[in-house]
Amino acid sequence: MDRYRVTPGSTVNLADHDPGDRSEFKGNKSAGKKRQAELAGQLADLQRLLWAEDKHKVLIVFQAMDTAGKDGTIRKLLARTNPQGVKVANFKKPTPKELSHDYLWRVHPHAPATGEIGVFNRSHYEDVLVVRVLDLVPEQRWSRRYEHIADFEQLLADEGTTIIKFYLHIDLDTQKERLQARLDDPEKRWKFNVGDLDHRGLWPEYMAAYEAAISKTSTEDAPWYVIPSNRKWYRNLMVTQIVVDTLRGLDMEWPEPEEGLDDVVID
Ligand code: ATP
Ligand code: MG
Repeated sequence: MDRYRVTPGSTVNLADHDPGDRSEFKGNKSAGKKRQAELAGQLADLQRLLWAEDKHKVLIVFQAMDTAGKDGTIRKLLARTNPQGVKVANFKKPTPKELSHDYLWRVHPHAPATGEIGVFNRSHYEDVLVVRVLDLVPEQRWSRRYEHIADFEQLLADEGTTIIKFYLHIDLDTQKERLQARLDDPEKRWKFNVGDLDHRGLWPEYMAAYEAAISKTSTEDAPWYVIPSNRKWYRNLMVTQIVVDTLRGLDMEWPEPEEGLDDVVID
């Protein structure tokens, strides 16, 4: 899955990343869904081991434009996991109290503990994305944040956190279809947010902000992956595969049992 990993130090141009790409899976949609379900089962097994070993912490960050599928991807990724070991944090518009602190203040408490998988649905990256695009703080402030963010993530990594960051990449046409579907389907209408159209109108500005954020903060210890997300099944499959591969790479082991268990007789 290295194909979608952003090499540290490289400059990302999202126009070069095809959101409709499906080159990493030869099968069709139903085969892709079946494979994703198998991988989600493997992730559940790996999570049991992560929890038992109680040594590593795993943080998975999701960022994307509206309708790219952060919620759906998280649902499919974690479908088989034990909810007790997974903490999903949503970062919405900051409250007045959160705004009165530095922008990482609300984030750090949600970083995972040993044995846990922490998932960020939006994240500290909003502070160099929406904040930059809407001019919510002066450039002189947001422009220094890339460095803070890289340092913050390095701190987490140095203290034992494995970090994976996903940008779910869709194009304007796909967003249009999905917004229209929300309008047309009575069961999805509640999801339609007229305010999302303002962000849609700023698409080029958002793409530039994403390019800067991804280019400046993809590191060896906290890499970004740009996931083609026009096809939901392919997006889910790639994300699940990358998470499974990353957890496998931790070479986890079941903890040593207490000594003398062979002699234990339970009557
Ligand atoms: P969904 O629409 O699928 O329910 P969502 O993540 O889009 O999920 P919303 O409540 O629609 O949730 O949107 C959250 C909004 O909060 C987004 O527009 C996001 O840009 C904004 N937001 C998040 N963090 C910040 C921040 N630090 N500063 C300003 N706005 C932020
Ligand atoms: Mg929204």
